Amino acid sequence: MKDRIKLHDKVFKPLIPGEQIEKSIDAVAAKINADYEGTDTVPVLLCVLNGSILFTAELMKRLDFDVDLMSIKLSSYRGTSSTGAVHMDMGLTGDITGKEVIIVEDIVDTGRTIEALVKILYARKASKVKVCTLLLKPEMYKKTINLDYVAMEIPNDFIVGFGLDYDGLGRNYKDIYILDTDTKL
Ligand code: 5GP
Ligand code: MG
Repeated sequence: MKDRIKLHDKVFKPLIPGEQIEKSIDAVAAKINADYEGTDTVPVLLCVLNGSILFTAELMKRLDFDVDLMSIKLSSYRGTSSTGAVHMDMGLTGDITGKEVIIVEDIVDTGRTIEALVKILYARKASKVKVCTLLLKPEMYKKTINLDYVAMEIPNDFIVGFGLDYDGLGRNYKDIYILDTDTKL
């Protein structure tokens, strides 16, 4: 893990090593496997692009029942803060009518994105919608939607890595880094 990384005009310091991220994914996958043991439903695993690509891949490898992988692209962040408005950049890649959907998100912050997405999925006639997120900022989350599976909770600061970006950069790191306001460039 690097001591510091620089993306555009900002410096980030280590927060969660890759090994710890993988262990948290093992644990969340075990819970999902237990919930779906012996099921004959084939849920849609919905990757929320682009941030959830790495998490979705790691999670999928650990699931031992059949899933139907689909994607959607949403955005609400510009730079390091949420704009408040959720925009759909790319629609659903498949038909979810009558299907159970497990949303796979990178991070739940204010919850606006997840709330908007759950609405979209029920409007598209999903029979049931569940939420699985790699990260949650509990201090920020004020919505009532139940977060069925949460791999890790983090403090209320801007992070990058393991799929998450700062204005397009930082997604490829296998560890998670947090904004470092003390180190000057
Ligand atoms: P919310 O709508 O819950 O406020 O924000 C959710 C979305 O904002 C996430 O899907 C993610 O794309 C982005 N986001 C929230 N917090 C962070 C963060 O700390 N770092 C990065 N890179 N993106 C974040
Ligand atoms: Mg996201």
